[in-house]
Amino acid sequence: MNPVFRRQGILFVISAPSGTGKTTLCENLRATPDFIYSVSCTTRLPRSGEVDGTDYHFLSKENFLSRAHNGEMLEYALVHGNYYGTLKTTVKEALAQGTDVLLDIDVQGAMSIRKTDDVMVRDSLVDVFIMPPTIEELEKRLRKRGTETEEQVQMRLRTGREESKLWPLYKYTILSGSMEEDLIKFRAIMRAERYLSRRLELNEGKSA
Ligand code: 5GP
Repeated sequence: MNPVFRRQGILFVISAPSGTGKTTLCENLRATPDFIYSVSCTTRLPRSGEVDGTDYHFLSKENFLSRAHNGEMLEYALVHGNYYGTLKTTVKEALAQGTDVLLDIDVQGAMSIRKTDDVMVRDSLVDVFIMPPTIEELEKRLRKRGTETEEQVQMRLRTGREESKLWPLYKYTILSGSMEEDLIKFRAIMRAERYLSRRLELNEGKSA
């Protein structure tokens, strides 16, 4: 009889200063069947090409805050002047079914999840910080994206400098290189986490 393991899902949280390339990294990861990606809610206006329900659930501030106050969010935060939040049910249902979940959230959101009272969520958390190689490179990547006004670029750079100081709070830190390098490093973390003995439960009496 071969051992059969089952496990709860892992909650992969990725944070990085805006412009680091995290969204592209997450898009690449989303294209694989490895996780479900949790689509966040936001009060920010859609950028050109962004699709409601795929990139974000774009909500009015009233709707967002009413859902947050009803306890529908696992975490939420004010980032660059707009609210962003993660829907609780999507994440918890997937984890309970053994499906891994990918969250692209800011440092405040990651902090809230680390402190959550929800034991299942806390135990499943694997938080990864993507560190920009330098502030100059971050500025270059942000400008290349071309989606922000000069004032927004400056605000994102200021926030990015502060956020970069928080890397020691994360279980893993990846120094960002090319997209391919970041993907390889992230996949190495993902694979190792899936083999952690403490996550596995032996299904006695069943053969593979
Ligand atoms: P952007 O406006 O560039 O799409 O995202 C701005 C920032 O908001 C990024 O750092 C992104 O990770 C963060 N963010 C996106 N969704 C969430 C969320 O659900 N919760 C939190 N706390 N931050 C989020």
